[in-house]
Amino acid sequence: MTHYRIAVIPGDGIGKEVIPAGIEVLQAVAAREGGFTFESETFDWGSDLYRATGRMMPEDGLETLRPFDAIYFGAVGDTDIPDHVTLWGLRLNICQSFDQYANVRPARLLPGIEGPLRRGHLDCVIVRENSEGEYAGQGGRSHRGLPEEVATEVSIFTRRGVERIMRYAFDLAMTRCKHLTVVTKSNAQRHGMVLWDEIAREVGRDYPGVEVRFELVDAMTTTFVLKPESIDVVVATNLHADILSDLASALSGSLGIGPTANLDPERRFPSMFEPIHGSAFDIMGKGIANPLGSFWTGALLLEHLGEAGAAARLMRAIERVTAAGGPFTPDLGGKATTGDVTQAVISALQADNE
Ligand code: NAD
Ligand code: MN
Repeated sequence: MTHYRIAVIPGDGIGKEVIPAGIEVLQAVAAREGGFTFESETFDWGSDLYRATGRMMPEDGLETLRPFDAIYFGAVGDTDIPDHVTLWGLRLNICQSFDQYANVRPARLLPGIEGPLRRGHLDCVIVRENSEGEYAGQGGRSHRGLPEEVATEVSIFTRRGVERIMRYAFDLAMTRCKHLTVVTKSNAQRHGMVLWDEIAREVGRDYPGVEVRFELVDAMTTTFVLKPESIDVVVATNLHADILSDLASALSGSLGIGPTANLDPERRFPSMFEPIHGSAFDIMGKGIANPLGSFWTGALLLEHLGEAGAAARLMRAIERVTAAGGPFTPDLGGKATTGDVTQAVISALQADNE
């Protein structure tokens, strides 16, 4: 019997609603699948801790997380603390310290969910560079408050950083349709983005079977809306992929559906799994957050642990619920609560006799 230890950080807002629901579902998958068990330890890190101690996580938080097999994360962000403090204090701190450089975000129209597209088909994976680029945290401000104030936000692209995310994306493309869209803005951004295009061509030589398309990020937003069926694997920078993946999740029906894996592909550190949405100020505390994104995230976590059978079983249960027409939360046009959707997925798991 394999025994996994999962660190659970619900964080803020609806993270505190969808992550406990996700743990319930993961425990149900483990019970149904057999062969492995989960032990989860929950950490109450986030904005409440910040208000009490001035820190989003304890000083030794990274050491605490390090021995776990994976991290299951909700979201950060509250109305009374600047967003950059909550994000850098917890989520970005973990992603960057554990070198989780590949942020992988599938988006797909699940059966029974129409989404806003009404035509076309959406089944793609966005690979987001997750360690540098626009979120390198470099820059500064001078002449604060004066008319001549200047602020810089420096994007950093290193050959090592771009090359490793490109290889990850090409490898992933090999396991799917052998089609990769490389997204940049290399017409306007003539240094880092040109390096990105050059390295894509270099790495592409090692993958002659993969068809590569280069697309500018602004045009790419229109491709997502007008020709989603032409998209399979996409590789883009930290910022561009952040934006494109919210768009892709919305096109799949709701921001509440999209999952994320923050991977250290070399497995030196634990990887972190989270729904793509944030803490959702407008619906927090109402019990109506869509938990499907956190469940799908659970399936990515299972896949990472090597439990492919359990991951497939969980996706089957999610799709049985959506194909049957719900229950759906209000973001998908329904009236169900987070708890109703959770119970429906657990029932589907128990009824699955494959
Ligand atoms: P958001 O994702 O929290 O919400 C955007 C919209 O989508 C809201 O209308 C919200 O109600 C809806 N939505 C999101 N998830 C949903 C779900 N599961 N079910 C139903 N509806 C859902 O983005 P935002 O409003 O830009 O940000 C709010 C806060 O979250 C900010 O503090 C921001 O910094 C933070 N944030 C954190 C993360 C993270 O921790 N990974 C990611 C994005 C945003
Ligand atoms: Mn985002």
